[in-house]
Amino acid sequence: MLARDLPLRRWGLDILTMSVALLALSGCMTDHALPGEEYKLSSLRVVFLDAPHMQAKYEEITGKSAVMMTPRLVLDTHRREEVVVGFYDFRTRTIYCPKMDFEVCGHELHHAVLGQFHLQQ
Ligand SMILES: [Zn+2]
Repeated sequence: MLARDLPLRRWGLDILTMSVALLALSGCMTDHALPGEEYKLSSLRVVFLDAPHMQAKYEEITGKSAVMMTPRLVLDTHRREEVVVGFYDFRTRTIYCPKMDFEVCGHELHHAVLGQFHLQQ
């Protein structure tokens, strides 16, 4: 009697374990079914710089001129001078960009760095 009961109890426990595992799995699947793409950055530094300091920092880090002629593959008459306005340093995981320039630096990135900066109504 005891020998019969044990396998039955064990089987019952296995079903319980399986259903808990299924619940956990479905919970996991729900969490990962978010639309869009998610990226978690473990370390990111943001440095706001004005134009002259931006160019100096770019030249210091890359050893290249911050002023360049682009595009390269057209006649000289169509080439124009362009200046580095922002950049990401992969080595130090640092974004260098102008403060409150949302096109270069990103509006939401400003919130991540500065918090709430809109005027309260
Ligand atoms: Zn905003």
